[in-house]
Amino acid sequence: MAAGSAIQIPSRLPLLLTHEGVLLPGSTMRTSVDSPRNMQLVRSRLLKGTSLRSTIIGVIPNTSDPTSDCDDLPSLHRIGTAALAVQVVGSNWPKPHYTLLVTGLCRFQILQLLKEKPYPVAEVEQLDRLEQFTNQHKSEEELGELSEQFYKYAVQLVEMLDMSVPAVAKLRRLLDNLPREALPDILTSIIRTSNQEKLQILDAVRLEERFKMTIPLLVRQIEGLKLLQKTRKPKQDDDKRVVAIRPNRRINHIPSTTEDEEEEEDHDDVVMLEKKIRTSSMSEQALKVCLKEIKRLKKMPQSMPEYALTRNYLELMVELPWNKSTKDRLEIRAARILLDNDHYAMEKLKKRVLEYLAVRQLKNNLKGPILCFVGPPGVGKTSVGRSIAKTLGREFHRIALGGVCDQSDIRGHRRTYVGSMPGRIINGLKTVGVNNPVFLLDEVDKLGKSLQGDPAAALLEVLDPEQNHSFTDHYLNVAFDLSQVLFIATANTTATIPPALLDRMEIIQVPGYTQEEKIEIAHRHLIPKQLEQHGLTPQQIQIPQVTTLDIITRYTREAGVRSLDRKLGAICRAVAVKVAEGQHKETKPDRPEVGEGEDCKEHVTEDAKTESISDTADLALPPEMPILIDFHALKDILGPPMYEMEVSERLSQPGVAIGLAWTPLGGEIMFVEASRMDGEGQLTLTGQLGDVMKESAHLAISWLRSNAKRYQLTNASGSFDLLDNTDIHLHFPAGAVTKDGPSAGVTIVTCLASLFSGRLVCSDVAMTGEITLRGLVLPVGGIKDKVLAAHRAGLKRIIIPQRNEKDLEEIAVNVRQDLTFVMASCLDEVLNAAFDGGFAVKPRVERLNSKL
Ligand code: ADP
Repeated sequence: MAAGSAIQIPSRLPLLLTHEGVLLPGSTMRTSVDSPRNMQLVRSRLLKGTSLRSTIIGVIPNTSDPTSDCDDLPSLHRIGTAALAVQVVGSNWPKPHYTLLVTGLCRFQILQLLKEKPYPVAEVEQLDRLEQFTNQHKSEEELGELSEQFYKYAVQLVEMLDMSVPAVAKLRRLLDNLPREALPDILTSIIRTSNQEKLQILDAVRLEERFKMTIPLLVRQIEGLKLLQKTRKPKQDDDKRVVAIRPNRRINHIPSTTEDEEEEEDHDDVVMLEKKIRTSSMSEQALKVCLKEIKRLKKMPQSMPEYALTRNYLELMVELPWNKSTKDRLEIRAARILLDNDHYAMEKLKKRVLEYLAVRQLKNNLKGPILCFVGPPGVGKTSVGRSIAKTLGREFHRIALGGVCDQSDIRGHRRTYVGSMPGRIINGLKTVGVNNPVFLLDEVDKLGKSLQGDPAAALLEVLDPEQNHSFTDHYLNVAFDLSQVLFIATANTTATIPPALLDRMEIIQVPGYTQEEKIEIAHRHLIPKQLEQHGLTPQQIQIPQVTTLDIITRYTREAGVRSLDRKLGAICRAVAVKVAEGQHKETKPDRPEVGEGEDCKEHVTEDAKTESISDTADLALPPEMPILIDFHALKDILGPPMYEMEVSERLSQPGVAIGLAWTPLGGEIMFVEASRMDGEGQLTLTGQLGDVMKESAHLAISWLRSNAKRYQLTNASGSFDLLDNTDIHLHFPAGAVTKDGPSAGVTIVTCLASLFSGRLVCSDVAMTGEITLRGLVLPVGGIKDKVLAAHRAGLKRIIIPQRNEKDLEEIAVNVRQDLTFVMASCLDEVLNAAFDGGFAVKPRVERLNSKL
């Protein structure tokens, strides 16, 4: 509808009452409709109407209090704007409402309200844009001077804006093309004016009055703009001027607002960012992308969500260490000393690490297998990784992969996603600030898999020296060279590492520690570290080796030293309190030493209590240093021992045997219990068992059944058919850890042999080995961990498969000396070793056999 042409509005108009601003003829406004009256109007008039006339409504500024939610129609403003509803958008969130886009046509005045419900309808009289007005050029002549003056101000205002912006250029053209009488309304709705001012303009029905009222508003805007531009630097970005004209609400009174300053700062930041991008050493491809993005950023209004996204992206690109690296200082002798200083024992691991570093020194090329340390928790895998970084003089960063099941965790999200961010590799590089750090990929065996892709596949790309020089994170979308990064992985078990990943890595097993090694580690490393962390000195606390041994055997049962470290931390905390309080529990010199402590177990709590009370009496006395931690102090601090030597107790009945199991957390001793009852020959298995374990149980029973006569094994009614009228229940207690694998075969046989013979298995024997139907014992894995576990549990004799004999070489001499090993190649040998005095074979049967 051309602005100058005459309009004829209907004489009856439905009325839309708006709180949000004042619509003036010639301008467009978006208004939200949620009051019941307005909603009704939209529904029954706008959405149902079919003619163009039905889309014409009367928009009346609602001057009543918007919060008063009464049913009665408020007193209506006399003058309104007839408007064309251009668009209706409905939404149900957060509550049902419509958003209307309306364009003002002309003024009208209400003559009479025809109905109030469901929405008001009034008889109206059109006040402008009538035929007679548009044809009257006279009015223009009369108002000549006033309208000319208005026009000049309008031109001046528009020309202060940036003409290169299409909207501004269009506005400039409109000023010339539109009839002058339409200008006051249009400009009032463009410039900053309050609703009150707009209402006055709406009420100014006479054109002369309207011109007179709008000129001061224009002048005010021009002055405000001038002030604004003066405070800006000449180099100011032109786009910003367009943005600036509108937000300045307080143009009258506060010329330079904080908002402006912020913008100013932002602008400076963008310039700085551009400078940083240009001076950074990023790759050519990255530079190209960044420059393109910064160009876009400059054109973007800051209020756009994309502005912040683009800026974050660019800031990350600048921060990334494209070309920044630390200088390697590698000297094998120094590395050896450093590794030895940081870690006790783990000779095999240290040897392999030194070899690896030596090759690195000779051949300055990082292509090679990725080292992967595999072992139970707390054996120092992470800590060795850190030492490697230290010896090389490189930055160290740990990336925990446990539970990662989305490949974008590794490779980042594309920037089109809301909340997208780079993956852990790029994030890690940003954190360390150099491109050649040591990255420790912790727990690669615990990578998950999900619908969001396989993170292991993404890791493959990261670890593959052939590919990783151009690793492309989805967020960055440009290649980053990872070839200088030294990757080291850790895992608890190789079983769950994806095979393709395993293929790229060199596995170095890190077994658990012996008690002696743990004591040394505690005294050389853990205790000094804990003392330092708690601000204590060796003059204040003394932990004798016997106490450490007690902590190891009675308070922890682990392959590594993490729990031990925690317990030592608890002791240090308790001592720190005593030291800080200036008092401590006096350790009586005549108190029995730790080794003998067991005998007086019952008295300890009482003893400690009386002492604590007497302690309070000598508050004034200075603490006696060093505070000695003996077994009694240990009990006070850590509570009663958590593990006792329970082995002999549990083997006091027939039908129990001790096996040795391997878990990702190290070796474990495992009790196998069996019982029999009247039944149908059923076998029941309980405990968390895998399929292989169940098969072993069946094998064991079959072998025993076929050899029952030979060993004089009978069921309850004396029959050699062991399952005749008998049910057997086998139970594998100890926790919810799933046990699987064939190595429990010999234990199950021994346990059942004990059950059917009624004899006790020796209480200090543990065993491991796979069995065959023919009674042979086959080798199994994890011997070192299993032997250490048996040693930890205080067992003395260990039955292992003959073919595992070679594995014993790896075990420390002192452990081997404490234990007796029985190498078994068949089940006869196992049973003979497991029962005191051997497991008798009936001589007559043998004689018979030999005759045959
Ligand atoms: P992992 O990564 O194998 O789970 P950590 O590297 O986190 O274990 O080790 C746990 C703690 O035990 C660390 O404080 C580490 O310094 C210490 N530690 C483990 N093994 C040794 C060792 N051989 N010598 C010295 N400290 C050790």
